[in-house]
Amino acid sequence: EKIIFNGELVERTGINIDIEDRGYQFGDGIYEVIRVYNGKLFTKEEHIKRLYESAEKISMELPYDRNSLEEQLENLVKENQLKTGIIYLQFTRGVAMRAHGFPGDDVVPVFIAYTREVERPESSMKNGVKGILVDDIRWLRCDIKSLNLLGNILAKQEAANHGCFEAIQHRSNIVTEGSSSNAFVIKNGELWTHPATNLILNGITRRVILDICKEQGIQVIEKPFTVDELLDADEIFISSTTSEIMPIVQLAKNTKSDILLNEKTIGDGKPGQLTRKLQELFEKEIEKQCYS
Ligand code: PMP
Repeated sequence: EKIIFNGELVERTGINIDIEDRGYQFGDGIYEVIRVYNGKLFTKEEHIKRLYESAEKISMELPYDRNSLEEQLENLVKENQLKTGIIYLQFTRGVAMRAHGFPGDDVVPVFIAYTREVERPESSMKNGVKGILVDDIRWLRCDIKSLNLLGNILAKQEAANHGCFEAIQHRSNIVTEGSSSNAFVIKNGELWTHPATNLILNGITRRVILDICKEQGIQVIEKPFTVDELLDADEIFISSTTSEIMPIVQLAKNTKSDILLNEKTIGDGKPGQLTRKLQELFEKEIEKQCYS
């Protein structure tokens, strides 16, 4: 199994990460996770475009053009004979003597990418999972897919501590997104999700879902909604590259927060009708892109 290190296909054990890599010291960098189905990269262009946008937002110039990067990633998948899984890729701002300010122009970003086999979460998608509401303590540029993930990590651990799959974050009373996913509610046949502002990452899965809804005439409202509206929803789901469309069928009581006093079952405790329909349509999109 090979990885990419600065444009070369090499063995994982054959590389050294400098102790003064800015990714290692500051989390100064950006990343992407791309799903691979049937050996093909799902929504490849969208992920690569978002990567370049994230780079631009942190004033980092990537050392490859899009075509070269795409080719490298495809070679990696081929080399590793990956069928179902993910590619993880990241760029840090490079290696320089530790100082907060950007290094000089002579310092180039450090690039790594690797593949991992990851099965689709079939049974969770079918049965739904538990979520928990947590305070969104993150910074105000959540639109950047940055390596700085402490806020997200603490949220996810809070979920794990309560036996939950995902933490659904809220900033004051407004539901923003999951710790590593976007959040949606369905009310009276309408799909609501937070607008793609600086307060959330505009997920690629989210965009696929919104496109599907447009095509199918399913009413979507991109608007901030409250915790009370979430609790009152007919259906809840989250979306991400690895979790796809994941129904939330129960909300756990958060012992650290006073916002939800008791456990709450969503709908009848099973994935709702519109969520299941969206899962089916999402499946068709995977087939279209990766199996035809
Ligand atoms: N929000 C956050 C905070 C995330 O980390 C992720 C997944 N990395 C998402 C949303 C979903 O994005 P995508 O659908 O592109 O995986």
